Amino acid sequence: MNRQTKQRRAILNLLRRGYYHLTADQIHDDVRKEIPNISKGTVYRNLKVLRELGLVSELSLNDTVSRFEANRESHYHFQCERCGRVFDVDEPIDKELDRRIAKRTGFKISYHQLEFRGLCHNCQQ
Ligand SMILES: [Zn+2]
Ligand SMILES: [Zn+2]
Repeated sequence: MNRQTKQRRAILNLLRRGYYHLTADQIHDDVRKEIPNISKGTVYRNLKVLRELGLVSELSLNDTVSRFEANRESHYHFQCERCGRVFDVDEPIDKELDRRIAKRTGFKISYHQLEFRGLCHNCQQ
């Protein structure tokens, strides 16, 4: 396995292990445990390639930093207003909403995004 493949695989494995919704900096910190000399630039480059390959998606939350996760079924997100952590919301995507809006507006809808905000379990205490 060449160096590039190894780096890319380490990043993808990290995201697939369930450490999703990570920022590029957090990914860099974690991948460094496995590949100590990996640079931040390399992590950014690999995330871009993985995104282009459709293996990773970049979350467009109402947030200043980008977060990444391994591609799975599309799903909703909840972001805590206090600690900023992002969680998956186990709720099926409402396709009916797309149809309803398409019908009302005449737009051809590809998808919609919905983001929940509030306080996570920890921050409620
Ligand atoms: Zn919180
Ligand atoms: Zn998610």
